[in-house]
Amino acid sequence: MFSVYLQDFQQCKPLERRVLHVLERLPKEVQQDFLDDARFTVSLDNYVPGEGSTVFMAAPGGTGVSSRSVVLKPRLSECDEAFSHYVIAHEFAHAYLRNGPWGDISNTEDAANALAASWGFPLPGKLPGISA
Ligand SMILES: [Zn+2]
Repeated sequence: MFSVYLQDFQQCKPLERRVLHVLERLPKEVQQDFLDDARFTVSLDNYVPGEGSTVFMAAPGGTGVSSRSVVLKPRLSECDEAFSHYVIAHEFAHAYLRNGPWGDISNTEDAANALAASWGFPLPGKLPGISA
C-alpha cells in the first residue's frame, strides 16, 4: 500500500528497501495520516556528483504543503543502516508533526528525534560530525 511513495526509488533499490522498512513500522495512525493526505510525498533528492556528503535536508520550511514533503538523499542508501533508518524516521516525524512541536517538546528537531525514537528509530550513538 506504500508503493505510491516508492516510485522515486526505482533506481535506488537499497534506499527503497530502507524507506519501506521504516514505513511498515510506523504506528497505524501515522501510516493512515500519510495515506489520507495527498500532500504527503516522499522523493529522492537529485543526485549531484561530487557534491557534499550530507544526509540531512534542511527542515521543510513553513507550514502546509511543503512541510509534508519528505526529500531523501541518495547517500542514505549507502550509509549505516541504523542511521539511515533513523534519518528516514526523523524526516517522517517532521512530516507527521507538520514540522511542529510534539507534546511538551517545542524544539522541532528534538520533537522529531523523540517521535522517531518512539517508533523504534532512535538516533544511533557515535556519529561524529553529524547534527540533526
Ligand atoms: Zn530534522
